[in-house]
Amino acid sequence: MLTQISPHVYILPFDSQRDRPNLGYIHGEKFSLLVDTGNSKAHLNTMLKAIKDANLPAPAIALITHWHWDHTFGMHAFPGTTMTHTKTNEILNDLTKWKWTPEAMNERLKTGEECEFCDTHIKIEYDDITEIKVVRADVEFDGNLTINPGNVTVEVTPIANPHSDDGAVVYIKEDKVLFAGDADTGDFYELDGGYDANKFYDYVTSVDKIPYETYIHGHLAPMTRTEVSALRKEIETEEL
Ligand SMILES: [Zn+2]
Repeated sequence: MLTQISPHVYILPFDSQRDRPNLGYIHGEKFSLLVDTGNSKAHLNTMLKAIKDANLPAPAIALITHWHWDHTFGMHAFPGTTMTHTKTNEILNDLTKWKWTPEAMNERLKTGEECEFCDTHIKIEYDDITEIKVVRADVEFDGNLTINPGNVTVEVTPIANPHSDDGAVVYIKEDKVLFAGDADTGDFYELDGGYDANKFYDYVTSVDKIPYETYIHGHLAPMTRTEVSALRKEIETEEL
């Protein structure tokens, strides 16, 4: 079921057991948007059904925050236009070449191409891993992007962060809501969940220039600015 966050913004809340992130929905007067497509066709379809059940219009566009499987493996099943940063699309293009057999998955674990946490959760989400399908987005953007779906403004900002080499945050201006992807989390691919301190502080400095009041991390409940500061203090104490 959807949770309403603000006049134009809803989420389908995250599910840690299956590593399903929060999926966002932005309701415009002319058209609506998704933020991330989830970790599988099943996850995406749960979102699309929740939108329908709430009597809201189906989304025309899906914006992708970063390339990680849990945010992108539903893209192939999205019946609209998918959009992502050029860097994200380059990485997704590489992933389209990955084979989905137990042998290929084991090999990627050995070489470090895949992270253990992801491997474990992919096997929980998918009863049949041969169903996995990775696609590139239909539309790429290389810098900031503004979308006007009617009565609300959506600002997409590519941002350097400690979580992945790509990454964009999505800000719903009138509602002061920010979708941050997983940007505050450490890097599970290069640093085993650890943090690069410079990237962390660069991220915090840039993202905090955005006047958000509600901050939506991919795998946590929505936070106020004060709660975001508390989370950052915790990361500083424990991880940096
Ligand atoms: Zn991620």
